[in-house]
Amino acid sequence: MINPIIAANWKMNKTIGEAAAFARELKGSLTEGMEMDLVLAPPFTALSRVAEILGDSPISLAAQNIHEAPEGKGAFTGEISAAMLVDAGCKFVIVGHSERRTLFGETDERINEKLLTALRYRLKPIFCVGESLNEREKGKAFRVIEGQLKEGLKNVVFDDTENVIIAYEPVWAIGTGRTATPGQAEEIHRYIRDFMAEYYGSDLAARLPVIYGGSVNPDNMAALMAEKDINGVLVGGASLKIDSFLGIVNYQ
Ligand code: PEP
Repeated sequence: MINPIIAANWKMNKTIGEAAAFARELKGSLTEGMEMDLVLAPPFTALSRVAEILGDSPISLAAQNIHEAPEGKGAFTGEISAAMLVDAGCKFVIVGHSERRTLFGETDERINEKLLTALRYRLKPIFCVGESLNEREKGKAFRVIEGQLKEGLKNVVFDDTENVIIAYEPVWAIGTGRTATPGQAEEIHRYIRDFMAEYYGSDLAARLPVIYGGSVNPDNMAALMAEKDINGVLVGGASLKIDSFLGIVNYQ
């Protein structure tokens, strides 16, 4: 049984004060014995403030990006190292988000380096894969995802796979209001699990969290989560307001 993961990606939104207020409200609304992992990914500026508020609550902190340098420091103006993210209280880091791939030119190779560095520092990568609309329409979705998985997970040793979360995020569904149907999402999630079973064994694949992202909201959440291979969600737009995020968290 995999605990559902519900992760909020705030992207370039929220001041420190806004992030802190949200974290306080979310923490205050948790119910005893909740069997899910909640994760907040605020902008870098708000990480340590949100970490202070979350304290030892079951809500975890994620970063939205990481620099790949394994040294943890160096002459990389404007970048943030894995060591700094750990120091700020992060347990997770989003790697390979389609906005990083398309707007900032991140290649599969660089994403792989980021992922390996994250794992080396015991940060759990939320590794995003997903096809564009054009690729889906040409029937290439599986091939694209296979390539992203092969390249992104290169040199990831078996023991580290326990710490990887894979997020299927069809690019055509991100921020568009157009969600994959539960059936479309499930088909790819099953493919990802089969891929992982082939490379890392069926025991690992059965324990691997594979989460969905792309216009998730309180109305479509329950149907997505009813699918066998969907173990949680990565939420952008609908995670910005506490009411809609709570609507997603309380989907059952
Ligand atoms: C995302 O950016 O990871 C995402 C899923 O965004 P949205 O929920 O807004 O589609």
